[in-house]
Amino acid sequence: MMEPSGDEPSPGLEAAVHRRHDGTFRWEQVEMLAYKQEGSAPFRDVTRQVLINAPELACELRYFEIAPGGYSTLECHEHVHGVMILRGRGSCLVDATVLHLDTNDLVRVPPMTWHQFRAGEDEAMGFLCMVNTARDRPILPTEEELSAMRQNPVVAAFIRH
Ligand code: MN
Repeated sequence: MMEPSGDEPSPGLEAAVHRRHDGTFRWEQVEMLAYKQEGSAPFRDVTRQVLINAPELACELRYFEIAPGGYSTLECHEHVHGVMILRGRGSCLVDATVLHLDTNDLVRVPPMTWHQFRAGEDEAMGFLCMVNTARDRPILPTEEELSAMRQNPVVAAFIRH
């Protein structure tokens, strides 16, 4: 899902064996980042922290937090997301299915599958998201694709764009 412009390399983290959690979903020496550049894609109230970025693993572990009422970008791409809800509750769209998500639930977003995450109206949702370090840039839906998705009333009611 998610870098300053969608998929640029994340800022390097100095090697550290242990980074303490401070009790508020912040970690030592981990910078709080914007989810994406404003205006680069539709989203609301999402922050991003890159927790683990180890070249040897060829993947990154990020923590995203969506404030109440917020949502991530509706997008798709070749790379896969492995997601674990770490805080709160919310929902997500994966393809044409709306999933209600509780703390510790797991979600796999397959390749080239439309997806969007939303927090509840009165509760933030934070989640871990694992991705390949080298990954393709997310694609946003065209008007035609949006119209096609909105033929399904469940999807139409869910998506924010
Ligand atoms: Mn994505």
